Amino acid sequence: MDRCNVEPTTGCSKVSPGCKNCYAERIFPRAYGKSRAFTDVRCHEDRLEQPIKWKKPRKIFVNSMSDLFHEAVPFDSSTRSSQSWRSASSTRSRY
Ligand code: SF4
Repeated sequence: MDRCNVEPTTGCSKVSPGCKNCYAERIFPRAYGKSRAFTDVRCHEDRLEQPIKWKKPRKIFVNSMSDLFHEAVPFDSSTRSSQSWRSASSTRSRY
């Protein structure tokens, strides 16, 4: 089964000692270089529908570069993410 990432939010900020070796912070520069700080949290709602359009099932790594429940992510956006993927999982995609 193919594997891919879906990134409905990007960026984060350290909130606890558990964030010390954050994977997301480490890979963030690969996508954005120095043009954007990791602490610049953004929502990309256009990406929510990506899994629904796929014809084959895929393993999905959701939000590899952020925390979907970060305080800067509107609750509505987090809710829409889970609703979108629940819908996709009941059709063609596997999570
Ligand atoms: S992505 Fe997770 S581990 Fe990294 S800074 Fe955010 S909350 Fe901490």
